[in-house]
Amino acid sequence: MTDLTADAPAIAQPGAGAADRNPAAPGGGRTVAAAVPPSLVTRLTAGITAAGEPALVETVAPLTGELLAGLPQSTPADVEVAFQLARRAQPAWGALPVRRRAAVLLRFHDLLLKRQDEVLDLIQAETGKARLHAFEEVLAVAMAARHYGRAAHSYLRDKRHGGALPVLTQAIEARRPKGVIGHISPWNYPLELSIGDALPAFAAGNAVVNKPDTQTALTALWARELLVEAGLPADLWQVVIGDGPVIGPAVVEHADYVSFTGSTRTGREVAQRAAARLVGASLELGGKNAMLVLADADLDRAAEGAVRACFSSAGQLCISIERLLVHRSVADEFLARFAARTRALRLGGGLAYGADMGSLVSVRQLDATVRHVEDAVKAGATVVAGGRARPDLGPFFHEPTILDGVTAEMAVCAEETFGPVVSVYRFDTEDEAVTAANSTPYGLNSSVWTKDLRRGRQLAARLRTGTVNVNEGYAAAYGSVSSPMGGMGDSGLGRRHGAEGILRYTEAQTVASQRLVPIAPAFGLDDRQFAAVLTGGLRVLKALRFK
Ligand code: NAD
Repeated sequence: MTDLTADAPAIAQPGAGAADRNPAAPGGGRTVAAAVPPSLVTRLTAGITAAGEPALVETVAPLTGELLAGLPQSTPADVEVAFQLARRAQPAWGALPVRRRAAVLLRFHDLLLKRQDEVLDLIQAETGKARLHAFEEVLAVAMAARHYGRAAHSYLRDKRHGGALPVLTQAIEARRPKGVIGHISPWNYPLELSIGDALPAFAAGNAVVNKPDTQTALTALWARELLVEAGLPADLWQVVIGDGPVIGPAVVEHADYVSFTGSTRTGREVAQRAAARLVGASLELGGKNAMLVLADADLDRAAEGAVRACFSSAGQLCISIERLLVHRSVADEFLARFAARTRALRLGGGLAYGADMGSLVSVRQLDATVRHVEDAVKAGATVVAGGRARPDLGPFFHEPTILDGVTAEMAVCAEETFGPVVSVYRFDTEDEAVTAANSTPYGLNSSVWTKDLRRGRQLAARLRTGTVNVNEGYAAAYGSVSSPMGGMGDSGLGRRHGAEGILRYTEAQTVASQRLVPIAPAFGLDDRQFAAVLTGGLRVLKALRFK
C-alpha cells in the first residue's frame, strides 16, 4: 500500500486507567440460561439430520462463557441421507406455481417480524453480539423475504425471445430449479446467512441441505422451524451439523449447486471440489474494506457512519470497514470526532437493547484481534482508542480499537482482522486514495463520504469492490436487496440479492419451436439457392435492426 501515514500526528495512547475505558452498557433482558432452556435445545435439534445416537458437541455462550447447548453431530452418512430426503421432496415443490412457493416467503416475513424477540435472544446467546446488531439480521432477512416473495415470479417467468427465423421460430427461455442446493454458512450472521440465501433457492423450486456453523446452529434451526410453520414442506430444508472440514466436503460432494459463505481460504477449497464435479458455486468470502472520507465530507455524519461501519457485530462482518482513508486536510478533525464516539461506545451483553457493541464470538476471534493490535503497536502503531481485551465484561470482549501509523509490514494492514479494529491512513489526492483502497486482493465493499453525491458515484466506478456505499458504511448497499451484492477478486464469485441472487439457483433452458418451414433447404430449393436466400435474409434482418 502507498505510505499514506507520513506526517501522522502523534496521538497519545490512552492510559490504562478505568476513566478511558469504554463504559459498560446497562444490563437487562433474560439470562442466556432462561432464553435457551434445555427444552428449546431439544426441540430445535430434532431438526438436525443425524441418525442413531450421535456424538454431541457442546457450544458456549460467548457473553458469559457458560455452556449453551449440546448439539448432535451428523456424519457423512447422515449428509447422504439428508440429500436423499431433500431430493425426494424437491420435484413436487418445484412443480408448484412460483406464486405458491413465494407465498411461503411472505408468510415467513410476517411470522419473523412477529416473533423476532425469540430469534434475537438466540442470536445474542450464540454470537454474543449486541441486540441492535442482531436486529440487523432480522431486517435483512425480512427484506429478502419480501423481495423474493414479491419478485420471484417476474425473475423466473418464461421469457420469449426472437427465434432463429423471425416469426417462424419461437424461443422461450425457461428457468428450471437446480435440484438440491448445498448451502454452507458461517457463524457471524447466523440468521441472515443461513436463511437469507436459502429463501431465493426455495422460491426457485429447490430443496436445500444447509450446514450452518455448529456455534450458531440453533439460530438456523429456529429459522427452519419458522419457515416450515409458514408452509415449507419440512423435508425440503435439511440441516446437518459437524466438523467443517469433514461435513462441508460431504455437502459439496452431493450438491447440484453450492452456496458458500465463509473465509477465502475455505472458499477456494469449496470451489475446487465443486469444479471437479462440474457443479456451480457462489462464494461470498472475506474482505479488507476501505472507507474514503473526502475533504468535503460532513465530518459528524462520517464519524457516526464510521462507528457503525467498523464496529457492528464487533467488526465480525464481512463488509465492515477495517481501513479508513481520510483526506489530510480533515484527518485530525475527523479522527477526533470518530475517536470520541468510539471511546463512548457502551459494551455489554444483556439480552436487551442498550449496548452499542457486544462480545466477540470465541477465543479464536479474540486472539486474532489481540494479535493484530499487539503486533501493530510493537512495530510502532499508535492506539487512538480502545486497544484492550475486556475480560471484566465477559471472556471474549475487546474494546473497539482505532490504530494510527499502521505500515505495510504490520499484519493488520492487509490481513482481514474480523474484529473491532480499524486503521487510519491519510491521503492528499483522490488518485492516491483510489490506489490505496484498491491495493488489496480482496474486493468486497467500500464506502465514500462526500457532500457531492455525483462525485461519490464517479469515484465508485474506480473502486474494485462489489458494493460501494456513498455516505453510508455498508447497510445502504446490503439492504438494497433488488441489487446484487458480492465480491470481486479474493472476496468471491457470484452474487446474492437481485436477479443474480435467485437465477444462480436455476438452470436456463431454451425451448425453441419451429413452425411451417424447416431450417434447411425446402420447397424445391437446392443447397446453393437455400444459402443465397438465407444470405439475403440476414442482410435484411440487419438492415431492419433486428437484434
Ligand atoms: P470458515 O471458512 O472457517 O467457515 C465457514 C463455513 O465453512 C463453516 O460452516 C465451516 O464449518 C465450513 N467449513 C470449514 N471447512 C470447510 C471445508 N473444508 N469445506 C467446506 N466447508 C467448510 O469461515 P468463518 O471463520 O466461519 O467465517 C468468517 C469468514 O467468513 C470471514 O472471512 C468473513 O469475511 C467471511 N464472510 C463473508 C461474507 C460475505 O458475504 N462475503 C459473509 C460473512 C462472512
